Amino acid sequence: MNRDSIYLPRDVIGLLQTLQSAGHTAYVVGGCVRDSLLGRTPGDWDICTSARPEEMRRLFADHQLILTGEKHGTVAVVLHGKPYEMTTYRLDGNYHDHRHPDAVQFVDDLPRDLARRDFTINAMAYAPGRGIIDLYGGRDDLAAGMIRCVGDPAQRFAEDALRILRALRFSARLGFALDEATAAAALQARDTLQSVSAERIYTEIDGLLGAPNAGPTLAKYGEILAGAVPEVQACICCTQPGRWHCYDVWQHSAVAVEKLDLRGQDTRGARVLCWAAFLHDIAKPQCRSVGADGAAHFKGHNQRGAVMARTILRRLKAPGYLIEGTTGLIAIHDAPVPAGDTAILKSLNRYGAVFLHRLCALKYADLDAHADTPEVKARRNEVAAFEARMTELSKTACYTMRQLAVNGGDLMEAGLPAGPAVGATLQRLLTAVMEGRVLNERAALLEFALS
Ligand code: ATP
Ligand code: MG
Repeated sequence: MNRDSIYLPRDVIGLLQTLQSAGHTAYVVGGCVRDSLLGRTPGDWDICTSARPEEMRRLFADHQLILTGEKHGTVAVVLHGKPYEMTTYRLDGNYHDHRHPDAVQFVDDLPRDLARRDFTINAMAYAPGRGIIDLYGGRDDLAAGMIRCVGDPAQRFAEDALRILRALRFSARLGFALDEATAAAALQARDTLQSVSAERIYTEIDGLLGAPNAGPTLAKYGEILAGAVPEVQACICCTQPGRWHCYDVWQHSAVAVEKLDLRGQDTRGARVLCWAAFLHDIAKPQCRSVGADGAAHFKGHNQRGAVMARTILRRLKAPGYLIEGTTGLIAIHDAPVPAGDTAILKSLNRYGAVFLHRLCALKYADLDAHADTPEVKARRNEVAAFEARMTELSKTACYTMRQLAVNGGDLMEAGLPAGPAVGATLQRLLTAVMEGRVLNERAALLEFALS
């Protein structure tokens, strides 16, 4: 991390040069500097500059511009199809509601612009010839794996509560810890997250859950996260019987997120699974009872958990597919897997192969976050056997009406009167096929239908 220069794409160098040749100062700043120093490829290149928006518009008049952020000092130039945001150095003014600066104020110098940024690792700038501008020890914090507020953390979180969740998201993304004072201030201020819009909270938590280090971050900072999702609090320290478990409900949920294997999942499937692992046992504290044997039970936590997850996800204004996908999985996450071909075919018919693969992924993650015992291993083997057979049957067997070797037209041709009887007969045929009572062949099905 002793590098004093970082690689800039040609288009970015061009933008900096255009601004500088017109007499302005200009730097790349924020996430792209952080990621470059970490040896990661930055997603976006953001530029900060002494140029005002009207000046940027003039300088780049012959380019495609995006001006939606102009009020806040941002002009985006599109080069080779990619937008680059250039923002005038600014202060954010006062915050009265923990979320929106009342006004932005342009300033002439870079240091004041860096001072408004959230974390030291995000408050560095760079320009060729000027090197890395690091006024708050961002490089040291990168080397130490630390997320630390620029300035007084309590004040910074009071200005903008969303920073509390941004700290957790960066922790999950980079595998960093929160500096002690930053963590303490975040915990202290967690309830102010209630004033942040649902959409912004959703986006941050979603980013956190999808990040490589989500599990350990959840495990460590659950109490902070409970400011955004209060239902989490009761899971922390909610103990579980040692016959199956080695973690409390919250640590177990965090480890389940960590253990998720998302290979083979599409983007939606991966997102659904992250949220499902996060929330799968959310109702356990409410469902906890202690049996005559002294062990805790959590009867009904599947269904109740699905209801609670729906409430939480609706509150966060999550997309519909995520709500349906997540609650569908949670509702049956702990139910025994079907055994035997008929039961497997019926579950394929009811849920579809995509859902059942997701269910298996959730079950593996859930079981891998249990105690390492022969009973848990046996359950895992049952899931694996189910998934293998389900996969095979989903490719070779008939489990939907569409796959039947006859359709409604065939039945009517064979003499069945048009009307509801046709559908009912097809359903009867499908059930018989799945139960192995008739082969899925035209002649056999017609004979069976008319008998
Ligand atoms: P990512 O890779 O997630 O985009 P990033 O660091 O680029 O990470 P952005 O949300 O794109 O994050 O913000 C760009 C920069 O703006 C940050 O690096 C930080 O300097 C600053 N910033 C963003 N949000 C805030 C905030 N809420 N408070 C203070 N500074 C912020
Ligand atoms: Mg960014």
